Amino acid sequence: MKIKVLKDILSANEQIAQANRHLLNSKGVFAVNLMSSPGAGKTSLILETIKALKSKVKIGVIEGDVSSSLDAALIGKEDVPVVQINTGGECHLDANMVSNAISNMPLQDIELLFIENVGNLICPAEFTLGEHKKILISSIPEGDDKPFKYPLMFNKADAVLINKIDLLPYLKFDIQAFSQAVKGINGKAEIFQISCVTKQGIQEWTSWLLTKMSRK
Ligand code: MG
Ligand code: ZN
Repeated sequence: MKIKVLKDILSANEQIAQANRHLLNSKGVFAVNLMSSPGAGKTSLILETIKALKSKVKIGVIEGDVSSSLDAALIGKEDVPVVQINTGGECHLDANMVSNAISNMPLQDIELLFIENVGNLICPAEFTLGEHKKILISSIPEGDDKPFKYPLMFNKADAVLINKIDLLPYLKFDIQAFSQAVKGINGKAEIFQISCVTKQGIQEWTSWLLTKMSRK
């Protein structure tokens, strides 16, 4: 019985996600669902991507957090449209929350929409939002065992960004083993090594993103 209820919730979510996707497509908006554990660097990556692409692409951001609007305030300084969702305890965004958020966004002025999910490596993987790509950030301080511990998240990702690569000399992280583990779970995921501090890999990441946008 419990399983049936869960299935109903997920299929209702799926329907709203499809409606979101339809709306985004009709407005020419390419949406990216950004997922990671807390502190892996989702907001920093969005900020760096805005800096790199601002002159080429019109960007908007939906910030998902359990509470606060700290990240939205940071993003707002870049002068892009931003809407904060406070989930009030929920540990993931769902399609309905995103539907409400996009109805408050000037979609006609947005070509690339970042949806920063709640920091969590578990259930965000199960709730599709209507996005075009799912991006997973995994950072060096978290350790190289994450693909084994959270395989669903890695399985769903279109790209895996290994962030804080500048910390590699100081921490025990086997990048070869990590990359192999990711490929074992998801042969299609693109892997980037990036740092929002040194800007390593930011150009490769943004080029990939632009390519995906043009093929939408
Ligand atoms: Mg954040
Ligand atoms: Zn959750």
